Amino acid sequence: MRPRFDVRKEVVYLDNAATTMVDDEVAEAMQPFWEEEFGNSGSAHHLGRNAREAIEEAREHVAVVLQVDPSTIYFTSGATEANNWAIKGFDGTPLCSDVEHSSVLASVLRCGGSTVPVDGNGTLDLTAMQGALSTPDVSVVSVQHANNEVGTVQPVKVVGEMCQLRDVLFHVDAAQTFGKVETNIGEMGADMVSVSAHKIHGPVGVGALYVADGVRPRSLVDGGGQQDGMRSGTMPVPLIVGFGRAALLAWSRWRSKKKAYETMAARMEKELGVMMGAVRNGDPSSRLPNIVSLTVPDVEASMVAAMLDQRHNICVSCGAACKSFSSEVSHVLKAMGRTSDQAFGTIRVSMGWDTTEHDVEVFIGALGCAVKEARERSFD
Ligand code: PMP
Repeated sequence: MRPRFDVRKEVVYLDNAATTMVDDEVAEAMQPFWEEEFGNSGSAHHLGRNAREAIEEAREHVAVVLQVDPSTIYFTSGATEANNWAIKGFDGTPLCSDVEHSSVLASVLRCGGSTVPVDGNGTLDLTAMQGALSTPDVSVVSVQHANNEVGTVQPVKVVGEMCQLRDVLFHVDAAQTFGKVETNIGEMGADMVSVSAHKIHGPVGVGALYVADGVRPRSLVDGGGQQDGMRSGTMPVPLIVGFGRAALLAWSRWRSKKKAYETMAARMEKELGVMMGAVRNGDPSSRLPNIVSLTVPDVEASMVAAMLDQRHNICVSCGAACKSFSSEVSHVLKAMGRTSDQAFGTIRVSMGWDTTEHDVEVFIGALGCAVKEARERSFD
């Protein structure tokens, strides 16, 4: 048999905002549900009962991280579906910021809603939001907890208060912060919150929407009436079990690494600033420590990322992974006032539970070589 490729040893993976490697403990927890525990959670027999129990345990783990009652958690196929549901589930015109994930932006625009600007750090313009909230018929305001490209953490508590005063529903896309930044939903004043498993070393293809008591988005997926008729479809038990286990582990794993992320991010910012004039994006006073977005002058970031990948086995992004093959400028960097050259010269490094000082050191060295070569080539 071919020896198994050890990705942890062979690859420096710095694209954890795009997705993360499933944690060993998560994979182990899921295993029986791919094999002997294959029951449909809607079946009355013992295999169905086992599946139901496993789902309820996972729901509790997710609810603990969000500090809410498990009955308010509805499993979905990921944060994209949860975002679509929270916005399309209501009549009226939705609002969001200019730097939302495409799943929010596209849903808001499809419903005839509008967007609110951000400043140069990617932080929501609260005065503009206040103004937009005074337009009639606003159904729901959707603001991300943290941005996936630059890491800026939004003042969601203030937006929550504004929405409460106007009696408008408030939705938070917490795909990048779930299990990382404390998500006290009561304090945030959120009526709905989207989360995803694969950003916290859980499996891809599962997420959840928290829906406060008394709030009832229209179901977008009709069928067998699972999850109180709110979201039909046979429950993907292995994925949900993995999500639950990842949620259980997330908080302690993140806390044990938070200082290290800060140190590694500061090192990249400082050394790459000196070495190649790189500037870190995002709000320095309110930013996720595991996301480092760097604008490097006079270079095409996609060329540099390809060199890092092909020559050094280092995986990074040039922005959101879902836009990797787009030739369009990042809507996030554009909204932050960056020029096209700056946006096309931006690399995103994002760290996960496995990232080490050594990974960062290797990355810094390799980036130095790649940027030098890319600059020389562009001047040829
Ligand atoms: N919102 C944000 C902020 C994200 O970063 C992502 C994933 N890139 C999503 C939503 C979509 O999540 P999922 O992949 O679970 O559909």
